[in-house]
Amino acid sequence: MNGPLSPYASSLGNEAKQRYYKKLLYNGETKTLPDPYILTEKWSTNPSNWPDLTFGDIYLYLIDTPSIYNKDSMKAYKSLEAYKHVVSGHVQVVLSNPVDDKCPFMAMKAKGTPSQRARDKPHDPWIYLEKNSGTVYCAHCTCMAGLGEVCSHVGALLFKIEMGVKMGMTQTSSTSEACQWNSTFRKEVI
Ligand SMILES: [Zn+2]
Repeated sequence: MNGPLSPYASSLGNEAKQRYYKKLLYNGETKTLPDPYILTEKWSTNPSNWPDLTFGDIYLYLIDTPSIYNKDSMKAYKSLEAYKHVVSGHVQVVLSNPVDDKCPFMAMKAKGTPSQRARDKPHDPWIYLEKNSGTVYCAHCTCMAGLGEVCSHVGALLFKIEMGVKMGMTQTSSTSEACQWNSTFRKEVI
């Protein structure tokens, strides 16, 4: 294996570790994205550099990836736990990291969320979005049993980004307004 993995990824069982490593390969598996758990610099709370993630991108990713999501649950997405997490303000500030100018993907994560209930497993999701198109490239969360299912934490992170894009937070000229939206967003449920 090339490229350093985080202590978390290194601690996974062999099969899960291989799978984690494979997620990070791109460009015909000739290049490796940095493991987001060890990316320490350049994380930003400013939504202005978020890729244009659309509902269609989320839909395709969640349907194509073995997960709790299927066509019926996506049709009723407002009743999904992931969506409810976002509208009730449970997704903390979203951080983005462009890695470097040559990297075609943007790393995104939610700042660690304290568990609501003691029995909840720790969860720390990350995703990589294609910078130009907003396509979801890969994602991971520490709550996963090692193999690549999508959990509601990854889903919630995706929904929050999509809402920000839809609400114009990536386009606004007011950086402070966008950053404030990112750290305090709670949708008024009618
Ligand atoms: Zn999770």
